[in-house]
Amino acid sequence: MFTAKKRLSLLVFSMILIGLSGTPAYAHEMYFTKNGSTITTVPLRWINKNTSTGRLKVLIDKQYLKDSWATYFEDARVAWHSSNVPAEFTTSSTSVNTYMATASADYWKQRFPGDSSWSEVMGVTDLYDTNGTVIDSYAKASASTKQIKGANIYVKPNPYNNSVFDYRSTMSHEFGHVLCLGHSHLAEYSPANPSTDPSIMSYDYLALKKSYLPQTHEVNDVKAMYGY
Ligand SMILES: [Zn+2]
Repeated sequence: MFTAKKRLSLLVFSMILIGLSGTPAYAHEMYFTKNGSTITTVPLRWINKNTSTGRLKVLIDKQYLKDSWATYFEDARVAWHSSNVPAEFTTSSTSVNTYMATASADYWKQRFPGDSSWSEVMGVTDLYDTNGTVIDSYAKASASTKQIKGANIYVKPNPYNNSVFDYRSTMSHEFGHVLCLGHSHLAEYSPANPSTDPSIMSYDYLALKKSYLPQTHEVNDVKAMYGY
């Protein structure tokens, strides 16, 4: 998920924590739980691979993307596809494993009742495992096969944050979730420093509006998580 805007307080908090821990952190899993200082993570892994190139394979159906999302999704797709992340993002009408849709206003209101201009949800990625279970909580992740075979990305109709950067960065961020990357800004969990360790999976970094391209952080995450 990417909630844009008004992240300053969290940014300051995160920077204090990184000062204390001082360790660059990679491989933020999407789901984890914390008991005291003990973190337990759930290693969800995207299982689709291109057998000839060995790269992770994301085959996208974008027919239900509308308006500016349909225009700017392509920039994020190309950015991932052309990056040093060992993954391929291509559009297809067959063997699709990732569906993208601009949601209806009613769907958005029902799913994100707290959504507002102050704390806006721009997009969300639902992963599903080899049993077809949609994973949206730690408990479901923990009980899943942990083998992720598909994803659905929903984006908000008529977002308040509607600059070209917002569209591109939201898409790019959601693509990271497709590969099972978690949020790298999370204070509970070795947050990435947005100044010295840029990461598009970090709200704090995206709030700086510097780049929507996958960063070294993402390259290292995918390599670490998938053994490349
Ligand atoms: Zn997110």
